[in-house]
Order: sequence, then structure tokens, then C-alpha cells
Amino acid sequence: MAFEGLAEKLQNTFKKLKRKGKISEKDLKEALREVKLALLEADVNYKVVKDFIANIKERSLGKEVMESLTPGQQVIKIVKEEMTELMGGTESKIEFTSKPPTILMLVGLQGAGKTTTAGKLGGVLSKQGKNPLLVACDIYRPAAIEQLQVVGDSLGIPVFTMKTHKSPIDIAKAGVEYAKQNHKDLVIIDTAGRLHIDEDLMDELKNIKNSVFPTEILLVVDAMTGQDAVTVSESFNKQLGIDGIILTKLDGDTRGGAALSVRAVTGKPIKYVGMGEKLTDLEVFHPDRMASRILGMGDVLSLIEKAQENFDEKKAIELEKKLRSQQFTFEDFLEQLQQVKNMGPLSDVLGMLPGINSKKLKGIELDDRQLIQSEAIINSMTKEERRDPSLINASRRKRIALGSGTKVQDVNKLIKSFEQTKKMMKQLSSIEKGNKKGRFKF
Ligand code: GDP
Repeated sequence: MAFEGLAEKLQNTFKKLKRKGKISEKDLKEALREVKLALLEADVNYKVVKDFIANIKERSLGKEVMESLTPGQQVIKIVKEEMTELMGGTESKIEFTSKPPTILMLVGLQGAGKTTTAGKLGGVLSKQGKNPLLVACDIYRPAAIEQLQVVGDSLGIPVFTMKTHKSPIDIAKAGVEYAKQNHKDLVIIDTAGRLHIDEDLMDELKNIKNSVFPTEILLVVDAMTGQDAVTVSESFNKQLGIDGIILTKLDGDTRGGAALSVRAVTGKPIKYVGMGEKLTDLEVFHPDRMASRILGMGDVLSLIEKAQENFDEKKAIELEKKLRSQQFTFEDFLEQLQQVKNMGPLSDVLGMLPGINSKKLKGIELDDRQLIQSEAIINSMTKEERRDPSLINASRRKRIALGSGTKVQDVNKLIKSFEQTKKMMKQLSSIEKGNKKGRFKF
């Protein structure tokens, strides 16, 4: 899960800080030292860490924080604000031109995820009403053209290609022309990458830039490469000039160094993040929500958005009612299992809830086989049992196992994960209630 290591360390530091009624300057220094170490271990740029800590220290040492009733909470609030600022403050949208087509030129090193991201971006923007065309300009790797065609086909987005017969500059120009003639209001150009930045690559990209005048040049970088991603971003920005960054593979980035430093180092915003290999795994980058996730405050807004994308509205309203009234049954559970599966790995989804330790979620990963088994187990329960799992004693468990062709341990496991889910739902609704009562809110 993204930021797992960093999140855990920061949350431990803040737990200690929150417990204290009053904090001394020494407590604050110790906490900030831990924050600094955690950030450095997460591969955040050294200078970025230094400035970040200095800002927090300056703001925290003031009277209104140190002498407040909840100094620990105040410091955490400051950390959250500074972290949000570090990642760009607010979300940064793609600027569409008033004279279509908008041309987005995707650049980056080989393997960063350009081709996949070109498709993902086309998919996301066509859901917003755009009519995109993908243009295949990576003529050095014929497989890249095919890959883009496969991606385009599966999304129902047309792909413009001239195979390897023309130069990337000619293909880009012809692609834009084709878009104009075929009423496409968005062109996404997939350019060639290299293993390292070299002069030839930069010259080619500059030439494409000077021939089609892209509305935005978006650099695709792999989050898992940490500081290398930051160095690559700096080079591309200096040599070519970029308008924004798409950070891929954040789903596998347990450290988070690139996400936290790249904006401060380059001055360019992260616009989207890749959260998985599926073509729907691209999210708008929200600095405040990301800071919330890192600091263990959850990201309920993203969770709700994900749910809205995957659930139909009527079902979502029903679910909300059930969640609030705690009338969540095994039948709902089964339905949710299937829908949650569409939302991505369960540990990532539940990790968006405040106070959820993603490490503890490791045991409840779901696969299709498990889903089929769970369905069989639930089908072997009586209606009463589904509504009130507390009825399911040892002999009933045996009967259910027999009926579903599973083992008693499997039945136990399912009931346990049902109870865990219910507990999490309860946590969520009590947090909401707490906020409504005007308790501390971030
Ligand atoms: P390109 O050489 O820059 O065009 O890179 P590709 O689009 O071919 O992607 C390289 C690999 O990274 C492929 O296996 C993709 O499935 C994978 N990939 C791309 N984006 C993501 C992401 O956000 N998360 C994960 N886990 N994998 C990704």
C-alpha cells in the first residue's frame, strides 16, 4: 500500500504527542526529529525535509499552540497543513483549451507507464465528456504501438498510428490534423521513452513540441524510483519544460519520497496518480487527501468517490442507510464483497478509513475463489442466521460447512471478517457523529 512505512512511523510519533496534555519544547523537538527521520527514510529530498521541519517548528513554537488545551493535536494539524502545501496545496487540473483540440503530450522514460497512462487518461477524460484520440508516436518500440491499440480498443477510444513508416513529428502532426477533421476535442500523444535521458530523446520531444504546440506536456514518472523520479522530473522540466506530472505505481510505493518531494523540487504539480495496472486505476491527485492518508486521518472523500463510481446510486443510498443504522447483514456483505472487489485491493480501500492500520488488513485479502466460497457459505445459512450471525454457534457452523462443501475454519474465517467489516463501518459512523458534535476536525 502507498506510504505504508511512512504512515506507520508518523502515526506512532503523533500518538505519543497526542497523549501528552502539555508539550515542552523538548517534546516537540523529539517529535520533529522522528518526523524528519521518517521522511528521510521515505526517500524524501533532504532539502525539502529540512525546510518542511523548519516551517513546522516555527509555527508550532508559538504561544497559541504550546499553551493551547490540545497542543499535540495542534502540531499534527500544522504538519497536515504543511504536508498538503508541500504536495501543491490544492488539486491541479488539466487546462483545456477554448479552441479544441486540447493536445496532451505524454513524455517520460521507458517503463514509467506512459502508454498505460495515455489509455487511462483517455478513459478518465472521456467519462467527463471529452472525445479523445490517442496518437502512437513511439516508433522505436513497435510493441508500444500495438500496446496502445490494445488499450484503445478495450476503452473504445480510437488510436491514430502510421506504424513506423513516418517520423514521430510527422505522426504527431498528422494525428492532430486527423483529430481536427474528425471532431475529436482531445489528443493524447504517446511519445517514445529511453532507459535514460539522452540528447536524441530530448531533441525529438522538443521537435514534437515545436510542431504541434501541445496544450500541456505531462511527464509520467514511476513513484517507486523515489529520488530518481525527482531527478528525472527536474531534467525534463529544465530541458523540455513540463506542465505537470503523472506519478505512476503509487500503489506499490511504500515509501512516498517522490510524491512528497517532486512538487517542491520542480515547482510543477502532480496532476494524476496511477494506483494500479487496471485501466481505471488513475486518480486525480488531491494533496490534502493524500496528507490525510499519510497521517492516518483516512480519506473518506476518495472512498466515497470510488464507491460512487462502482455502485449504482440507488444501491449506494441503501448502503448508506444500512451503514448508519448498523443493519448490515451477510447478504449485504456478499454484495459489498463483489462491488468492493471492483474498487481495487481491499487493503487499499479500507486503508482510506481513518485510524485503519493497513498492516492489520493484510489477512483479509480477497480473491475470486474466496468470493465463490463465501457465497456458498452464505447460501448455506438460514435467513435468521444471515440477519443475526450471533446465532451461528458451533453446531450451526458445522452444518453450514457441510452444506457449502467447506471447512468449519472457512466458516469461522468468513464470520470473523464480516464482524471486522462491521466494526470498521461502526468506526466510520462514530467518527462522523464525533465531527457533527463539533469535536476536533481536520
Ligand atoms: P511505458 O514504457 O512508459 O509506455 O510504460 P508502460 O505503459 O508499458 O508500463 C510499464 C509497466 O508498468 C506495465 O506493466 C504497466 O502495467 C505498469 N504500470 C503502469 N502504471 C502503473 C500503476 O499505476 N501501477 C502499477 N502497479 N503498474 C503500473
